[in-house]
Amino acid sequence: MSGPAPLLSVVIPIYNEQDALPLTAARLRPILDGIGGSYEVVGVDDGSGDDTAQVLDRLQLEWPELRVVRLRRNSGHQAALTAGLHRALGQYVVSIDADLQDPPEKIVDMLALARDEGFDIVQGVRDDRSSDTFFKRSTAAGYYSVMRRLVGREIPKHAGDYRLLSRAAVDALKSLPETQPVYRLLVPWLGFRSTSVTFQREERVAGTTKYPLSKMVRLAVDSITNFSAAPLRLATWLGLGSFLLAAVLGVYTAVEQIRGATVPGWASLFIAVVFFGGVQLVCVGLLGEYVGRIYSAVQGRPGYFVGSDSADVRPSAVDEAPQAQVHIPTQVG
Ligand code: UDP
Ligand code: MG
Repeated sequence: MSGPAPLLSVVIPIYNEQDALPLTAARLRPILDGIGGSYEVVGVDDGSGDDTAQVLDRLQLEWPELRVVRLRRNSGHQAALTAGLHRALGQYVVSIDADLQDPPEKIVDMLALARDEGFDIVQGVRDDRSSDTFFKRSTAAGYYSVMRRLVGREIPKHAGDYRLLSRAAVDALKSLPETQPVYRLLVPWLGFRSTSVTFQREERVAGTTKYPLSKMVRLAVDSITNFSAAPLRLATWLGLGSFLLAAVLGVYTAVEQIRGATVPGWASLFIAVVFFGGVQLVCVGLLGEYVGRIYSAVQGRPGYFVGSDSADVRPSAVDEAPQAQVHIPTQVG
């Protein structure tokens, strides 16, 4: 696309949504046509195996604002989002799912909040998930409470990937060297001025969920390892626990030995097993502490983002990462 940047980009990750897409397009288009500015829709086909590609081609014929980005293979929801965010040109970028579970009418409210009140991030928050299955609701509740403990209270509950980002926020995200970003954690972490709009999560218009248990587990593991070395510390705590246990059991063995209530060799073997078990776990835990630090160094996230500087001619127009290393992961390009 040439010419000036559109006002709004709408990024839609799409995986096997042949039935949902025509409905989504039909509901989205009148809303976008009415925002009073130019827009583009960036449909990211995440290696769909059904007729999604053909459906997108057909839609594109009569909807010139629709842009299609194709990934070579199924790379996952967050990777598809990354591809879309990296390619979106708009001054504001909204990401939304292809299945109409998040009502696209809210885009108008999001855009108004960003333009009139200067918010950089407008997060869509589901205040009612009754349309989700019991399993999805309870795993989601568990996920958000763990992430709020590990990452911080600023992670909104039930905030999925329906949100608006300003150009400055998108550029900040683009400057991150992450290869497996989890946007619902990264976006609040950026620290931009943000607000939220709430909505009811609707039923999927067509098709079935593209998030089987395996993908949910992967998202949870990525979320935890992206922000926390807590699992690596597990060995340290287990080791300290078994040290304590070894001390107690050592006393017990000594007493039994003195009372002559043991078979020969039991006391020494038993103490050795418990003691060395503890020593090994503590050592693994120590390694874990260092691996955790190496890991966060390798992640190379900047320590801060500059929001504005009174010496800047255009405050907060460009967010600069302190290290000028901009690395765009090649596998999602
Ligand atoms: N999606 C994707 N790649 C995947 C899985 C899902 O691009 O590997 C897209 C999917 O087409 C949808 C969005 O991500 O637009 C959210 O997926 P889904 O609605 O199936 O998740 P749920 O709402 O059930 O959590
Ligand atoms: Mg969905």
